[in-house]
Amino acid sequence: MKPYNFVPILGAKTYIKSPDVKSGKLRISIEVVTPVHIFSGYYNENGNMVYKEFAKYNGKYIIPGSSLKGCVRTIAESVSRSCISTNQNLYKIGKNVRDRNDCIICDMFGSLGKKSRLRFADLELVKNNGVDIINIPTFYGPRPENKNYYAADGKFKGIKFYSHGDENIIEKGTMPCEFVMPGSIFEGNVFYEDLDDNQLDLLCFSLGLGGDIYLKLGYGKPAYYGSVKMKSIDDKIDASKRASRYGMKDNDVAKNVKRLKELLSWDKRHTKSVWRTVNNQRGY
Ligand SMILES: [Zn+2]
Repeated sequence: MKPYNFVPILGAKTYIKSPDVKSGKLRISIEVVTPVHIFSGYYNENGNMVYKEFAKYNGKYIIPGSSLKGCVRTIAESVSRSCISTNQNLYKIGKNVRDRNDCIICDMFGSLGKKSRLRFADLELVKNNGVDIINIPTFYGPRPENKNYYAADGKFKGIKFYSHGDENIIEKGTMPCEFVMPGSIFEGNVFYEDLDDNQLDLLCFSLGLGGDIYLKLGYGKPAYYGSVKMKSIDDKIDASKRASRYGMKDNDVAKNVKRLKELLSWDKRHTKSVWRTVNNQRGY
């Protein structure tokens, strides 16, 4: 058993957009459920230990908007008829994964030469339930895998998602990183421009605002770090209802939504680690 699984891709299709579009702002909160580390790019030291520092702005802990955007885009790609963002040679897949930048995802998130209709502002830490240095594993399986689309045997399986797990099964290792601990809360805004209703539903779903999926951010995803619970606050567009109804009109999309919920719902989290010890080294 692996700490990840796949959602099959549906293939890209030109998106027919409704002329009835909306612009606005979603205010969201991110509650840390298992310790989260987002690397600032800088190192700090504590005594003689050098550790990777958590992302900060003006000395305050933040989740950079770009981190959240990447995660949300991957989820949105997995549950829509879209191209997927990869440089891999995908000729073996047998599905159309390239397009003329005209699928639903290109229209929302932007693509080469096309501006994004979404802007993810940095999220600020509004409730600090503690920070800690945790040594996390650097060894993730037999060899680094190709991006997010391939299984360990090199075969294309779809888009990869890592399982959630209880806080007490997080794997430890030798790389010290600064973590924001469970119970902490970040808040921030996502701005959208000219989205039709279906796109807004997809955005709400992919942000996890239905409450049925938790997202994963930052380092150590295979080792059960980075699980976060999303909520919309000051909700003016009924985000939870939008998230829940997304995909119901298209059977194939609905199937992927169901599959993704199985992979990312907190109820389906691992309560025992699937990692094993081989030659005195933990891995999966
Ligand atoms: Zn596209």
